[in-house]
Amino acid sequence: MNSLESLTSDIATGAVRIVDLTHTLDPDFPVIILPPEFGQCARFRMEEVSAYDHRGPAWKWHNISMSEHTGTHFDAPSHWISGRDVPNGSVDEIPVEAFVGALVVIDCSAGAAADDDYELTPDVIRAWEAEHGKIPEDSWVLMRTDWSKRSGEPYLNMREDGPHSPGPTPDGIRFLIDERNIRGFGTETVGTDAGQGAHYVPPYPAHYFLHGAGKYGLQCLANLDQLPPTGAILMAAPLKIKNGTGSPLRVLAMVNR
Ligand code: MN
Repeated sequence: MNSLESLTSDIATGAVRIVDLTHTLDPDFPVIILPPEFGQCARFRMEEVSAYDHRGPAWKWHNISMSEHTGTHFDAPSHWISGRDVPNGSVDEIPVEAFVGALVVIDCSAGAAADDDYELTPDVIRAWEAEHGKIPEDSWVLMRTDWSKRSGEPYLNMREDGPHSPGPTPDGIRFLIDERNIRGFGTETVGTDAGQGAHYVPPYPAHYFLHGAGKYGLQCLANLDQLPPTGAILMAAPLKIKNGTGSPLRVLAMVNR
């Protein structure tokens, strides 16, 4: 058997499991809230066009609308000012090979349970590597925080001084880019940056450094607790929106049972 025949067989037998890392698109799912002087991200909306009735007797369908950055979604380099001149930086231009690749999961769930502002630092990454080996070049790195198990207010976790949720420090994300040359970085929270990421230098360092380096982001991921630390394959193909800066998408992982 060639490798694709083996894979097909392994999926059929359950030796390889497909894990859904996607939240359901739902008007109630929170979107990022920026300070009021800025434009805002739209929630998912769905409008019935017909439902086997006089508007269309044999069919049901909906019109939908949302931001490029609503729900489980992909961030392209053109999303950030640092990546505005990156070649092939929009979702319609990214080479499709980038949408399938190796992933590693850094489990920060214990730290995030103890501290809403838990930081992914180079020391945390080195400690993970001491146990699981060096992060392979061109991998997706997913930060597990179990934040996806929250819903409603605790998901954004807004306080008087803004949202509080875990994320990487400037040094943490730079380590992944400069020292490990990752493909992209994914989180369970509403952004690749910490809730308080505006207060780092530079502000929103994950967005700034990832996209400036032509790397990708994934956010609002789910079910990271079902993934092994290494060895799984991520499939994340955004919609082919002309000049799109991101896209909601279905994110899947293939995992050896
Ligand atoms: Mn985004």
